[in-house]
Amino acid sequence: MWKNWSGNQTAEAPVAQPRSAEQLQALLRDTGDVLRPVGAGHSFTPLVTGHGQILRLDQIDKPVVISSDPGRARVNANARLHQLSAALGAQGQAFRNLGDINVQSLAGAMSTATHGTGRELPCLAAEMTGAQLLSGTGEVIEITKEDLPGMQVSLGLLGVLLEIELNTVPAFNLRRRVGVRPVEEMLSRMHEKWAEHRCYEFFILPHSAKGVQVTHDVTDDAVGKAPIDLDALGLQMMKLFSALRHVHPKLHKAALALMLKLQGEESFVGESWRVLSTTRNMRFNEMEYHLPPSEVEAVLREITGLVATRHTEVWFPIEIRQTAGDTAWLSPFQNGPRVSVAVHMHAGQDHSGFFRDCEAVFRSAGGRPHWGKLHSLQRRDLEELYPDLGKFDALRARLDPQDRFLSPALAKLFRP
Ligand SMILES: Cc1cc2nc3c(=O)[nH]c(=O)nc-3n(C[C@H](O)[C@H](O)[C@H](O)COP(=O)(O)OP(=O)(O)OC[C@H]3O[C@@H](n4cnc5c(N)ncnc54)[C@H](O)[C@@H]3O)c2cc1C
Repeated sequence: MWKNWSGNQTAEAPVAQPRSAEQLQALLRDTGDVLRPVGAGHSFTPLVTGHGQILRLDQIDKPVVISSDPGRARVNANARLHQLSAALGAQGQAFRNLGDINVQSLAGAMSTATHGTGRELPCLAAEMTGAQLLSGTGEVIEITKEDLPGMQVSLGLLGVLLEIELNTVPAFNLRRRVGVRPVEEMLSRMHEKWAEHRCYEFFILPHSAKGVQVTHDVTDDAVGKAPIDLDALGLQMMKLFSALRHVHPKLHKAALALMLKLQGEESFVGESWRVLSTTRNMRFNEMEYHLPPSEVEAVLREITGLVATRHTEVWFPIEIRQTAGDTAWLSPFQNGPRVSVAVHMHAGQDHSGFFRDCEAVFRSAGGRPHWGKLHSLQRRDLEELYPDLGKFDALRARLDPQDRFLSPALAKLFRP
């Protein structure tokens, strides 16, 4: 049985593992099944599951980097971000920005508008400048400039991405600084921090009035020794302490305060891709909405209010980042920067009530959801939020006229 990273999506569907475009073409020709491409299976939404077959694409026989010039590379769409980062690094190039982890496939990450943080830094999909696609009609085509804004964020609905051409930047080092701050200070200074630092994000730690801020800035300083990753230990401790909250609230607060005291300030230098992404071992489910920047403070006050009153069971940190705007038709960042607020719950907890209440707050602030993270949008909501949805529908009708890549769950959203 196939399941995604957190285990909230499962499928009995057969998993095909083609090794070439020809084998993919044969699959398309010889079965009538709906085919759903999968990357690393790190999305929480039902993008891959449904009827038909799942297409694992990590065995497609292609070099990781196919060709490169300064500022531009053509790569294997199904390579993982860490493989690509290492291969580009060997040629003196790098991704402009990355998210929290780097195990996703490039096609998977771009298809859902995966992002990192930085006021001037767009999501990964906005870096796509060209692509080779096996369309629903069985042809291997090069995406034209006109169709590119449809392809950049496309949820595997247009066909199978085989190669991607993207913008790169010269390889660079980043200094990462991590420190604990009062939530009030982070709320009042976040916009200043986004202006000051290349990458800025912060985490609000429930029930502590404290948070952790992380900055990344370009430096010529030499690469140093990475400190031990304490994030995983911190999460384990927060999980353990959460059991104390109802029986001994004072002890719970004291334990959290002690943990934060021990955190100290961290500062080290590394190659950009090694510093930006870390490992996430503890399984969780997540909802993330991308909001107009002017709305974020009020939204965060409402969400922290919910955690303090109606959803005291929540102990997972709330993550806040910013991403620059772009022009992709289905990009949540279309037409201007957005601040992303991500709420998480441990995979063993029931997240439905908390996420439902958060979603109401996000929606009323004009938020658009991350395509790979939990949301309950319907077709009519997409029509409201995405002015270019009709252009995407038309492109899908041209590239996949027989709905070979449209599962029942996706048909509810993408069949006009
Ligand atoms: C621990 C964790 C940390 C995360 N951190 C971040 C983060 O920092 N920032 C962020 O924005 N998101 C983050 N995410 C979400 C994640 O980046 C996205 O859900 C991303 O899409 C997952 O990539 P994947 O390779 O697993 O793709 P999958 O989830 O496997 O697939 C995603 C979509 O891509 C399509 N697809 C895959 N391959 C192809 C192909 N070859 N051709 C066409 N379509 C294809 C699939 O059909 C599907 O619609 C995180 C998720 C987890 C579990």
